[in-house]
Amino acid sequence: MSKVVKFGGSSLASAEQFEKAGDIIRADESRRFVVPSAPGKRFGNDTKVTDMLYQCHELAEAGKDFEKVLSDIAGRYQEIVEGLGLDLDLAEEFDTIRKYLKEGAGKDYAASRGEYLNGIIMAEYLGYEFIDAASVISFDENGDFDPDRTNKVLSDRLALCENAVIPGFYGAMPDGTVKTFSRGGSDVTGSIVAKAARVDVYENWTDVSGFLVADPRIIHKPEGIDVITYKELRELSYMGATVLHEDAIFPVRQEGIPINIRNTNAPEDDGTWIVGSTCQKSRFVITGIAGKKGFCSINIEKDMMNAEIGFGRKVLQAFEENGISFEHIPSGIDTLTVFVHQDEFMHKEQKVVAGIHRLARPDSIEIESDLALIAVVGRGMKSTRGTAGRIFSALSHANVNVRMIDQGSSEQNIIIGVADGDFETAIRAIYDIFVITKL
Ligand code: ASP
Repeated sequence: MSKVVKFGGSSLASAEQFEKAGDIIRADESRRFVVPSAPGKRFGNDTKVTDMLYQCHELAEAGKDFEKVLSDIAGRYQEIVEGLGLDLDLAEEFDTIRKYLKEGAGKDYAASRGEYLNGIIMAEYLGYEFIDAASVISFDENGDFDPDRTNKVLSDRLALCENAVIPGFYGAMPDGTVKTFSRGGSDVTGSIVAKAARVDVYENWTDVSGFLVADPRIIHKPEGIDVITYKELRELSYMGATVLHEDAIFPVRQEGIPINIRNTNAPEDDGTWIVGSTCQKSRFVITGIAGKKGFCSINIEKDMMNAEIGFGRKVLQAFEENGISFEHIPSGIDTLTVFVHQDEFMHKEQKVVAGIHRLARPDSIEIESDLALIAVVGRGMKSTRGTAGRIFSALSHANVNVRMIDQGSSEQNIIIGVADGDFETAIRAIYDIFVITKL
């Protein structure tokens, strides 16, 4: 059995947090490969080291003095090194960073130093080998991640060591320029390392005990999700449930490696297992509920629309020409509705409307704004009778008017459109019916 363990920024924000991570790693010798993030927030309004590094770069680029910010960063690491009682001097590393920043090193180089330095500390603390991610994670000349090259180089390199620390978030382009993934990208590195090392489990240690059935800002102490499939997770993440970087799923998914989300501050909790498929039933008919506000619908009517071949394409062309992606398109016999993100659409609405008139010649177009979409997701829904019925009766009891219904072809999700103002009430009503009363 072998595992990759990735620790998020709050799990490594101080010496105390590092010790918790160290205890977790040492408690199980199969935890062979460690992927650290940069130090995150220690308390509510603290600043992440990554953000401080971006700030240094901005100042350097503007030709301003960045010494104060850089020495604050050095102070953060010094506190960790001293708190762990390590005999490690990072002064030379900071001299190099200062020099490169002055010479015009890129934004990605600056940001990547957060993980790089935390990796050096982690390797020293554990007595593990340090592998610089720039030497094993490859991006191509356009700056896109190169999965084939990375997998080859990384798996050859990892085969040579029993234990190693590989910093998250960055890699390098063919000319050696450091390149990062998007924010939160250490999750992606963890997944890439898990694939290359062909481990049995990718443990992702963070500050929550996995995914929750609903947003805790709306539901007081929601239940946790024990097992979720990649597909369900995609649906929920897309609708705003954020614990893991979206791209972290793909490398391990191809290899059938499960991800286990765990809590560094509560290691006794089992957390959430993310798997390809499972025969384990979820505790409730639904696995999770997520949603987002701020959509608008464009309702298009035309008599005999159903008989006009190509009508849908012409309507969608008007959106495409304006660079707007659509979310859902429920349709009736003589009506077609397109749901889009309000903030994307707002500035271009009249252009799109003119485009639809020109291309599709509809009888009327009406726009409604301030709508919310809620996804009710669950692999159990397919085989359970009356799920949709229960959702809608719960919503009607809660006095929520349903504006749109869309059931994905996978039968694993039902999307409901409601007014923004009904969003929280609707989520509470759905949670109540499936989780609290377990109907
Ligand atoms: N440190 C980076 C960030 O703050 C990457 C990560 O933590 O995953 O986004």
